[in-house]
Amino acid sequence: MGLNRSTIADLVAQAEVLQLAEQRAPAAGAHSSAGRPSVGVAATEHAYVLAVDVRVSALVVARVGLGGIPLAQATAPAPADHDPAATAAAIVGLAAAVLRDAEPDSMLVGIGVSIPGIIDRERGTVRLAPNLDWRDVPFAGMLAARLDTDLRPVLGNDADLGALAEHLRGVGRGVDDLVYISGEVGVGAGIIAGGNPVSGRSGFAGEIGHLPFGDGTRGCHCGAVGCWETEIGAAAIARAVHWPSDRLTELGDHLDELASAPEQLSVIAHHLGRGLAGVVNLLNPEIIVLGGYLRALYPLIGNDVLAELDARALQVSGFRPQIMLPGLGDRSVLIGAAEVAFGRLLDDPVGCLARAHRTSALSVR
Ligand SMILES: [Zn+2]
Repeated sequence: MGLNRSTIADLVAQAEVLQLAEQRAPAAGAHSSAGRPSVGVAATEHAYVLAVDVRVSALVVARVGLGGIPLAQATAPAPADHDPAATAAAIVGLAAAVLRDAEPDSMLVGIGVSIPGIIDRERGTVRLAPNLDWRDVPFAGMLAARLDTDLRPVLGNDADLGALAEHLRGVGRGVDDLVYISGEVGVGAGIIAGGNPVSGRSGFAGEIGHLPFGDGTRGCHCGAVGCWETEIGAAAIARAVHWPSDRLTELGDHLDELASAPEQLSVIAHHLGRGLAGVVNLLNPEIIVLGGYLRALYPLIGNDVLAELDARALQVSGFRPQIMLPGLGDRSVLIGAAEVAFGRLLDDPVGCLARAHRTSALSVR
């Protein structure tokens, strides 16, 4: 950070007063050069956020500490009809579970929620989530009311949050041009270009799942036909391996079985590589991170995907972006939701802690 030793000591002391950080004895051998050994500084678990990942198939809620450290996590199937009120109620149940072991004196400082859809972050509204069949749902307010809190949840698009988390803490650390592709029932991309998130005028830049693709004629949940999502999303994977479409939300739990059907997956590999070529030619990313179902699928079909990508992407001085799996495993989106939930604390630690909720006072607990 380019700060001198006394400035750092002062900042650490302030963070200690707020109980956000603590000094720890240096590990043996931690000082290799001459001089005083450096003291280790670590984030405490005093301040935490609730991170929520609303997927089409499941709901995941985690209590996450500073630095993106998961402290507790709970998962439940998504309500069958994705009713927003039922979804909020289920999240509250999961929140109670992850709060159970929290220290009574610890502080809830924020709530971040990932949604597979288009978000109006200012209003806390889900503008459109085709695969949940949500349109203009004021979900931040609904969830805050259910949680009985005046901490307003911060909503984010799943792929955008995945991109943010991988950029800050995953395989995209130090990479300024990356694309994170969330391949779930729907398919979307989070884009970091020049180190900055790309959101577009109305916040839906990166909806690559709905790019018109080839001569496709399949209907998409967005109302259009022939979207890329209809060729590589969960429904397409299920079709390719003859998985029953009425059990689509269970597909994610059975992806490892698909290794026995690699030839059936070649059509998915072909469409994935072709679409990625478009992403490469449009954005020239340094890395592309494949999240969601694609994380499990890619190791099975990687060679075919790369062959298709190489045949179609511009080859400039031999550069090809690296296709990578998420460094944060299946938690990229969840950790991204935690990052945005910590935003207020990082902007204004004193003010944020003054408005935060002590765990022992949370009615949901
Ligand atoms: Zn579509």
